[in-house]
Amino acid sequence: MMSESNHDYDEKHEIIIVGAGVSGLMLAKLLNNSGIKALLLERKTTVHIRPETFGTFTVAAREHHLTDYIDHYFDTFTFYGATSKASATEKNKMCLVNYQKWAHSLKLKNITIRTDCRLIAAQRTAGGIVLRERQRSYFARMVVDCSGYAQIVAKLLGLRTITKTGLSFGVELTNCRFPIEREASFILNTEVANSGGWLYIFPNGKGQYGWADFYPESKSSIKNLRERTLKAMRQTSPHNAWLQDAHVTCSYGRFGPTGSVKHQVGDNFIAIGDAGGCGTPVTLEGFRQALDSAKFAHQAITLAADYKKASLSLFLKLFHAKYGKYYRMHQWVKFIYLRWANNTDIDRWIHNFSKLDGQEIFRLIMGELTPGLMLKTLDIVLVKNIFLNIINNLLPTFLQFRPPISLSKKESMH
Ligand SMILES: Cc1cc2nc3c(=O)[nH]c(=O)nc-3n(C[C@H](O)[C@H](O)[C@H](O)COP(=O)(O)OP(=O)(O)OC[C@H]3O[C@@H](n4cnc5c(N)ncnc54)[C@H](O)[C@@H]3O)c2cc1C
Repeated sequence: MMSESNHDYDEKHEIIIVGAGVSGLMLAKLLNNSGIKALLLERKTTVHIRPETFGTFTVAAREHHLTDYIDHYFDTFTFYGATSKASATEKNKMCLVNYQKWAHSLKLKNITIRTDCRLIAAQRTAGGIVLRERQRSYFARMVVDCSGYAQIVAKLLGLRTITKTGLSFGVELTNCRFPIEREASFILNTEVANSGGWLYIFPNGKGQYGWADFYPESKSSIKNLRERTLKAMRQTSPHNAWLQDAHVTCSYGRFGPTGSVKHQVGDNFIAIGDAGGCGTPVTLEGFRQALDSAKFAHQAITLAADYKKASLSLFLKLFHAKYGKYYRMHQWVKFIYLRWANNTDIDRWIHNFSKLDGQEIFRLIMGELTPGLMLKTLDIVLVKNIFLNIINNLLPTFLQFRPPISLSKKESMH
């Protein structure tokens, strides 16, 4: 361990944020507003948030003062299965925030932003962490890793990184023929993707459509998911009829670590947002968690003058108080969904969502998975099917009485 007094660095900062995505920028904003100076390092040549717009809950947009950047509100939320659907018609509970607009509007006089930054090393010192680029090095008493899937600081420090990831591919569309307007939806169809998909319907024939995999369980790739997404758009009902003449105006695919309840907090270091595994394990929702984790990191950092692990652990307490209690249930649902449910079971499950009222459907979407709520979505036939799938999966091939469910079953779409 190198001593800070060696001065083996070019610049000294109190706090360095690595990554100018949603979590990094929100933390920068909060520190800036508290009058705290920080350096924000971003790998890209400009601060550009992809995808630019995120579906989220209006309550979260309000809580984080983002209502000026809402592009659309949604009137309904629907779960679509292969044949079933279940809707909640609670207007304006979900919206689409334009993050690029928000990023452009930020005035961060206390924050120095440096883009096109290539970190090649990180090293702990007695009083903090030194980050190195080829030409320049930085010392900070506190480093916050906001680099999303890259988890660059954790990797360079040699910490264990999060490997349970989600993989998403989405397209922006025009010229769609929607029979309804302003709907947000999840599509659960295990013939297409091993997590699920989403469709956001905007006015004037515009929309956003995409699919996601639980990765590495699916062993899929962005290229493979892209192919399935474009095929599903044309082939799976009811959306194929709506998207028949649609034009893809832009597309993006990305990995995102989600759903670890073992976030990274150490002396002089926190990883937040996707880099901290904050997103929900089942829905791969990460925007709200990225913002909340920035808020919690800000609280922990401003209260922990020594930046020691014990003081910074306040971050974990705050995050777990809001989300942690639900994540274990998420892990269970994900486990059963992947291993023991086929498309017919998933379809039946969605059919059962109709038993839930609007509030309960929103709790489900918001990732508030409690055992009571999950029990409400089950029935005898579904439980029997899942039980038979478990037995069948345990048997040797020659004794199996139904097609086994394999983890990578969704990688090819016919
Ligand atoms: C197609 C798609 C659709 C999605 N839709 C939704 C949605 O509708 N709702 C929702 O809640 N979530 C959605 N998500 C998830 C959401 O995008 C993420 O959870 C969220 O962006 C996480 O924010 P973040 O700041 O932690 O990380 P990121 O947004 O990934 O930001 C990380 C930043 O770090 C930078 N960086 C990376 N490496 C380095 C490095 N070496 N040095 C410096 N900087 C670096 C990156 O360039 C980037 O700017 C979607 C994800 C995808 C891929």
